[in-house]
Amino acid sequence: MKLENPNAAGLSAELSLAEWWMPFTANRSFKDAPRILSRAEGMHYWTPDGRRILDGTAGLWCVNAGHARQPIVEAIQRQAATLDYAPTFNLAHPLAFEAATVIARMAPAGLDRVFFTNSGSESADTAIKMAIAYWRAKGEPSRRIIIGRERGYHGVNIGGTMAGGIPGNRKHFPAMMAGVDHIRATHDLARNAFSRGQPAHGAEFADELERLVTFHDASNIAAVIVEPMAGSAGVLVPPQGYLEKLRAICDKHGILLIFDEVITGFGRLGTPFAAHYFNVVPDLLTCAKAINNAAVPMGAVLARTAIHDTIINAAPAGQIEFLHGYTYSAHPLACAALLATQQLYVDEGIFERARTMAPRFEAALHTLKGARHVIDIRNLGLVGGIELEPRAGAAGRRALEAHVKCFTHEKTPALVRFTGDILALSPPLIISEDQIAQLVDTIRAALQSIE
Ligand code: PLP
Repeated sequence: MKLENPNAAGLSAELSLAEWWMPFTANRSFKDAPRILSRAEGMHYWTPDGRRILDGTAGLWCVNAGHARQPIVEAIQRQAATLDYAPTFNLAHPLAFEAATVIARMAPAGLDRVFFTNSGSESADTAIKMAIAYWRAKGEPSRRIIIGRERGYHGVNIGGTMAGGIPGNRKHFPAMMAGVDHIRATHDLARNAFSRGQPAHGAEFADELERLVTFHDASNIAAVIVEPMAGSAGVLVPPQGYLEKLRAICDKHGILLIFDEVITGFGRLGTPFAAHYFNVVPDLLTCAKAINNAAVPMGAVLARTAIHDTIINAAPAGQIEFLHGYTYSAHPLACAALLATQQLYVDEGIFERARTMAPRFEAALHTLKGARHVIDIRNLGLVGGIELEPRAGAAGRRALEAHVKCFTHEKTPALVRFTGDILALSPPLIISEDQIAQLVDTIRAALQSIE
C-alpha cells in the first residue's frame, strides 16, 4: 500500500505501509489514514509534520515520568556501550541484582522475590505458572484452576488470554488452557454512574468467588488473578470493600491472590503499587510498563518469600528449581533504564505529585458530566474513564471517532485512548493543571463534533 495523501501524515509517499502487520489495530482503516508519532519529549508527542500532541495516555499507560527523560536516556546509552547483553540463565550481571533489590524494597512487605520478564503478558503467564508450581511443590498438585474476572485483561499470552475476561480476545482460542473460570466484573453502571473514586456499591461481587469455590472445591483452585483497578477494559474502579473481601475469601480457602499491576504499578494511583493504595497485599504481583518508564521492554513478577522458598526448596540441590525464563529476562538495558527511572521517581517525587494532582484531575474530568454522549465518568489516581452512549448498530465507533478528533484537533491535539465506547485517560504523572484542563477541553470539543 502506498499513501495517497502522504502529507496528511507527514510521511514520504515512498513509504510502504503494507508489510507491518500492526498489533491490536484495525490495519486496513489505520493504513488508509495513518496517525504517526515520530518524536516525544516530556508531556508531548510530535507527528512527522511537526504537530505537537498532548499525551493523555502516557503512551500505553507506561511513560509515567514523561518522555525522553535525560537520566534514563543517558543510562541506556551508557549501558549499551558497556554491556549490551548478557545471558541470565546460570549467569548474571550486577544490574539485575540491583534492579531486583530496588523493586523488592519498594514493594509491599513480604513481596520480596523478583522474577524479570519483558512484558505484562509474560508477567501474567509467569505468575500463573508460579502459582501452579507452588502448589505442586507444596504437595497439593490438584490446585491448578485459575480464577480470573470478566473484563479482566492480563495480556495476550495463553495463560493471560484464558484467565482474562475479554470475550473478543478469547473467542478464537477456546480452552487452550484447561481449568479457568471467572467471577463477574465489578462494573455496575446503574448504581455507580459518575462515582468519584471508588464506587459505593458492589463489594458483594467478591462473593462470586465463594460460589466458584463451592463449585470447583478449593482443593482444585490455585489462584485468583485480578487487576486491582482494571484499565484496558475501560477503567473499572473496584467498589469500596471489594478487594478486601476478595483477599479474605482467598485466605479462608488458602487460594493465592495475584494482582496484575501492569498499569497500576509505579505511581499511577499516587502510591508505588495499588496494593499500597488499597492496603490489600496479594501473594504474587505482576508489573511491567512504568517499571522503567517503558524505555526498554520489561516486566516483573513479585512473589512472597514463602512462595519462592517453597518452589526453590522442593527441587534437589544443584537442579534448576523453576524451569522458566526468557532470553531477555533482566536485559542489561532494561535494568539500566529501571534503575534510572526509579531514581527519577524518587528525585522528582513523582508518585507524590500524582497523589497531589489526583483530586484536580478528578474535578476537571467530572466537568464533562453533561457533555454530549457521556453516560458515565470514573476516576482513580491519574486514571480516568469516560463512557459514551454506544451509537445504535455501531458499538465502539463513537469512541474511535472521538479519539481521532482529539488527535487531529486543530489547536490543542491530544492523545486519548479508546476501548469499546470508553475513552481512557492515563497521562504521564508530570502533567500540569493547565494540561489537564487542555486535555478535558479537547475531549469536550471532540465529543461535541461527532454524531
Ligand atoms: N496486564 C494488564 C493489566 C495490562 O493492562 C496489560 C497491558 O495493557 C497487560 C497485562 C499486557 O502487557 P503487555 O502489553 O506489556 O504484554
